[in-house]
Amino acid sequence: MKRHVVSCSFGKDSMATIILALKHKERLDEVVYCEVMFDEETSGEVPEHRSFVYSVAIPFLKKEGVPVHIVKSEKNFVERFRHRIGGNGAWAGKIWSWPLCGRCYVQRDLKARPLDAWKRANWSGDEIVQYVGIADDEVDRLAKMDSYKYPTVSLLKKYGVTENAALALCRKHGLLSPIYEFAPRNGCFFCPNAKAQELRHLYDHHPDLWGHLLELQALPEKATELFTRKLRFDEIDAAFRMDDAQFDLLSKKEVIPYAYGG
Ligand code: SF4
Repeated sequence: MKRHVVSCSFGKDSMATIILALKHKERLDEVVYCEVMFDEETSGEVPEHRSFVYSVAIPFLKKEGVPVHIVKSEKNFVERFRHRIGGNGAWAGKIWSWPLCGRCYVQRDLKARPLDAWKRANWSGDEIVQYVGIADDEVDRLAKMDSYKYPTVSLLKKYGVTENAALALCRKHGLLSPIYEFAPRNGCFFCPNAKAQELRHLYDHHPDLWGHLLELQALPEKATELFTRKLRFDEIDAAFRMDDAQFDLLSKKEVIPYAYGG
């Protein structure tokens, strides 16, 4: 018997895939979720999304009788950030520091490799069919499905569900991550691809995590100083403080200094 699985981030597309599988009685044997860790104790997920994963999505699947496997690398982001480059090359002695946009070592080391290792250990010898959360209107991604390692099916394609419809479907079932209230997608809270509104959300609502990133920016001997393609993290911090100061000046409110010791 073929095992039908979903490798899942609990974003709208993978969650809508699960809803469709249950609604249309498609075979669904298990869900695999990989959680990236920021450090040994702190998740790399945006806190609102992590809370959704553990308090809404996983309990829902357990109630439906679908096993969920949580995969975590032994490594974490801070350990990778501080990893010192060896050898005699131009970068020798520097620390890896921020992941590069488009070539993210977090994706490679903390997601793809542990997931691949888990799949090798748990799926070897079995016939696997993998459901992927690729929407009916994601034409380029659908075209690449034939090159995937395991036979792959898009239930969103099969049932004609676009990205917008996937979001609506999750909302209708009370299974939409709150991350979509302030971000177009879910990703690590330290992602260099994060949009301005995602960074602003982190700055406003999670000053502890924001402070951790400022501490990393202050470390010496980094291979790159740039957090995004153009800006250091402390420059983004300064821009937000400036915005706040101007707003507070206009509103005659007193500016609250940010307690960062970095
Ligand atoms: S969300 Fe961003 S930081 Fe996290 S793995 Fe993806 S590209 Fe890398």
